[in-house]
Amino acid sequence: MSALTDFITAYNELSYSDRVVFYTTVSNDVNVSEDNLQPFLIETRITDKRVCVYCNGTHVVKNGTRKDGTQRYLCRDCGKSFIPSSHSVTSRTKKHLSVWAKYLKCMMEKKTLAETAEECRIALSTSFAWRHKILASLGELADKVYLEGTVEADETYFNVSYKGNHSKSADFSMPRPAHKRGNDSHTKGLSSEKVCVPCAIGEGGLAYARPEKLGKVSSECIEEAFDGIISPGAILCTDNEKAYRAFAGKAGISLIQTDTDCRTVSEGGAVYGVQRINAFHRSLKDFVRRFHGVSTKHLGNYIVWNDLISCNHRERDELLAQLLGKVLCVRKTLYYRDIPRKAPVPGPA
Ligand SMILES: [Zn+2]
Repeated sequence: MSALTDFITAYNELSYSDRVVFYTTVSNDVNVSEDNLQPFLIETRITDKRVCVYCNGTHVVKNGTRKDGTQRYLCRDCGKSFIPSSHSVTSRTKKHLSVWAKYLKCMMEKKTLAETAEECRIALSTSFAWRHKILASLGELADKVYLEGTVEADETYFNVSYKGNHSKSADFSMPRPAHKRGNDSHTKGLSSEKVCVPCAIGEGGLAYARPEKLGKVSSECIEEAFDGIISPGAILCTDNEKAYRAFAGKAGISLIQTDTDCRTVSEGGAVYGVQRINAFHRSLKDFVRRFHGVSTKHLGNYIVWNDLISCNHRERDELLAQLLGKVLCVRKTLYYRDIPRKAPVPGPA
């Protein structure tokens, strides 16, 4: 058997989620443009072996074409009929895929919801819904980040924000009086008015960050955030925070901590510090500031967005193709009706 045949056999045995990981890994080489979206969708989501986009079943047959020429499929395992874009973030929208491509371009350019709505000629409410659908899909991929080599980690804090419309959330009641705009009425220090976001950055700029809990960092929240994300073979560099000692000890990761002034440490001829993670914090804060504050329940999604557009500096078109590929490959995980139902703040206080 040729290497290619071996590869195809191995590929066909991959689960759907492994295929997504595979495509996002090799997507540098996958050329997606507005013109070849349909073939790309078929290739990545259904493949020659014909895998059902709903149940992973392989008893899938062609089932005619739609008026616009799109191939329809029928899964004999679950009985569902589908087209290549079914059960993805773009399904059940009446907009052409090229509008989605334009939308992603606006996201890469960090445009606001209103600017994006105008450019794509969609309603503001659609602009909002699409942003969160896309970010929820990308969030799935963020959880597959694996940091190796020298990894710098440090937590940062954001003010808790209940910004947004809560009218559809049956059990939401404002836990404190609303802050007036322009007033820095947030309490100083690390009270339950701050959300703790552990962040880590690996070699090459790949980063991971997640809003974890209210108030000060703890060893439990560091473990919760980084378990399975930082390789046991990594060298972890942090400031003098003791929460990282417990995590590194338990995970068997080598830990190098700077002194209280966060100066660099020399060990075995190499110099370690926390400059890269501090720069990451600054870029994240700048990004969130651009949107005039982000509701805490959506903060995680904005972190993913910032990671994606800042982790590499490739040519814009190439990055757009990658993003499009990632977004289209992922199965739908968020329904619009669920957006208002997200918990307002993460974890226990
Ligand atoms: Zn099926």
